[in-house]
Parts: sequence; C-alpha cells; structure tokens
Amino acid sequence: MANCVLCKDDLRPEEGELIWRGDDCRVILVNDPDLPGFCRVIWNRHIAEMSNLTYGEREHVMSLVFVVEEVVRHVMHPDKVNLAALGNMVPHIHWHIIPRYQDDAFFPASAWSARTQETSKSTLESRRALSKQLPLAIKEAISQLY
Ligand SMILES: [Zn+2]
Repeated sequence: MANCVLCKDDLRPEEGELIWRGDDCRVILVNDPDLPGFCRVIWNRHIAEMSNLTYGEREHVMSLVFVVEEVVRHVMHPDKVNLAALGNMVPHIHWHIIPRYQDDAFFPASAWSARTQETSKSTLESRRALSKQLPLAIKEAISQLY
C-alpha cells in the first residue's frame, strides 16, 4: 500500500534502527526518547489482522516477539514488558515490545497515554546506553532460533 508507513522498506531516521530482516518479518529498535529499548516486530507484507496469517506465519511472528521480549528483559531489566498490537492508525501487522518502568513517563498507563511524570535524565541516559546492546543481542538470539 503506497500510503502505508510500514510498507516502506526504508526506515526514516527518526523512526528507528533496523535490527534484523527476514523474508516475512523485520525487527526494529524504535527511536523513542522517553522509552529506550522500545522494539517493534513488523510483518513485511501489508496484512491487517493476525488471523489473516496462516498458523505457521502466526507462530513465526510470535516467536520473534517472544525472543525480542526475552532479550529486552535480559538487557533492559524493566519492571514490566508491554506487548501490544493495535494497528488502528496503521492497519499493518506490527507488535510493540516496550520495556516499562515505574518511573517512565507514562507509567502505569499505556505508552500512548498522557505523560504522568518525568524520568530523571541520568536514569534515561543509562537506559539509552543499555538499549545500544539490543541490536546485537537480538540478532544473536534470532540466529539461535532459526
Ligand atoms: Zn502496510
């Protein structure tokens, strides 16, 4: 779909960093100043609903989501991981994997809610530094999966 941002192959620089790309899915590290470590698993083709995928395809995308979740937990030490597939704005299958902390800007509401607090600069900086380990760790974990 020409007007779908997730159908485009080239990431806009503000969107994030491509970590891994397979035939069906790709994984990116989202560039979100408030939520370091935010990752996304994106189905490459323009498909709106999980139930449009075959069972094998569903298993594939969820395996990637769970691998990313495990690496995010291991690297980022969040208080909670949020998994979300909304697609109201962009009806193209993508899963958000978001490390959440009790002191993050939106806690305890969703990452798309109004800000509830400010995270200290030093805390955000150390989380951003940790998130730089994610691309390599995720690539390694996926390579063990397939
Ligand atoms: Zn699309």
